[in-house]
Amino acid sequence: MKILVMNCGSSSLKYQLLDMDNGKVLAKGLAERIGINNSFLTHQVEGKDKIKIQKDMKNHKEAIQIVLETLADKEMGILKDMKEIDAVGHRVVHGGEFFTDSVLIDEEVIKKLEACIDLAPLHNPANIEGIKACQQIMPGVPMAAVFDTAFHQTMPDYAYIYPIPYEYYEKYRIRRYGFHGTSHKYVSLRAAEILNRPIEELKIITCHLGNGSSIAAIKGGKSIDTSMGFTPLEGLAMGTRSGNVDPSIITFLMEKEGLTAEEIIEIFNKKSGVYGISGISSDFRDLENAAFNEGNKRATLALKVFAYRVKKTIGSYAAAMGGVDVIVFTAGIGENGPEIREFILEDLEFLGVKLDKEKNKVRGKEEIISTQDSKVKVMFIPTNEEYMIAKDTEKLVKGLK
Ligand code: AMP
Repeated sequence: MKILVMNCGSSSLKYQLLDMDNGKVLAKGLAERIGINNSFLTHQVEGKDKIKIQKDMKNHKEAIQIVLETLADKEMGILKDMKEIDAVGHRVVHGGEFFTDSVLIDEEVIKKLEACIDLAPLHNPANIEGIKACQQIMPGVPMAAVFDTAFHQTMPDYAYIYPIPYEYYEKYRIRRYGFHGTSHKYVSLRAAEILNRPIEELKIITCHLGNGSSIAAIKGGKSIDTSMGFTPLEGLAMGTRSGNVDPSIITFLMEKEGLTAEEIIEIFNKKSGVYGISGISSDFRDLENAAFNEGNKRATLALKVFAYRVKKTIGSYAAAMGGVDVIVFTAGIGENGPEIREFILEDLEFLGVKLDKEKNKVRGKEEIISTQDSKVKVMFIPTNEEYMIAKDTEKLVKGLK
């Protein structure tokens, strides 16, 4: 079965074509500047060089049309005909309280996605546009929606309810949702596979540490807590997001600096986190260079704040689950940042964590980095959200037949 995975942003479209018979990525690419001038597509077929195609793409429909034509092109493509695509899996950011798992898309599902726009005004409209465009271009091809939020819908109410007047939950559905669900699900399943243990028996803490970062507590294969909340702004210190702060800082700063609501939220989303502290960069490679090679104090502080919050969250999730068997690191920093992992895991011996410093130096591939006698297994696993989306889509489509 060949599945096309689509991830539509407001002006971009990321795609992967997977052959589910062998799990191989046949082709992948990214359309950028959709709806803006100078739009272009970067496309790569497995085993061949990347190519760049400059083409006008006024909207997502035009972009998808170009992606499909490229996939079926004699020279640049991999398919004889776009009819070879058996199903499409769409990444959708917010499924609200409607969706506890991935679903096959029908009219009813689209209505519910539209009802979630309030909760993710920057993301859901592009996701819906991508779905509708695909439906027009590929009528009759089954499509699934795979949500960033769905995996965390198993959180108990005492983990997702904010201690603010309950009427705001009833009126506006203000609660904690959590994000990166597809990644947390994938790496937790993979960790159980690697350890050859049933996931139902395991207490796993998954740390997705990238430009956006979140941690999840996964007990018996179910998410019982996660660090992002109503929006991805809650929780850890991130590349440019503040994570948890005292809400009073918002009104204090608005008054002192004469800022509007829009301006202050922009500061907390785009100018805070490790970038805000260091004043240098949101990229951990720059921060590590500044901290370790140049002795930059604010870069060092930014890394310490980041690692400290991850460590505290790991501790609190071990408490929430009554223990921890496995800690998994994933995403850009989790997979490639041995120094940061060491910072985070320092002094966690009391939990049963013993890091193997040699193994911890490895980058980019699956690896157990705890010592043989470590009670808690620590590993890093490259995330693969596209594969998870394709897997869920395949399962749903096979259920159709
Ligand atoms: P992601 O959001 O998962 O793509 O992660 C992006 C972040 O990963 C970048 O902003 C970097 O801070 C970090 N990153 C990527 N490669 C490395 C590396 N080799 N060492 C440290 N951090 C890295």
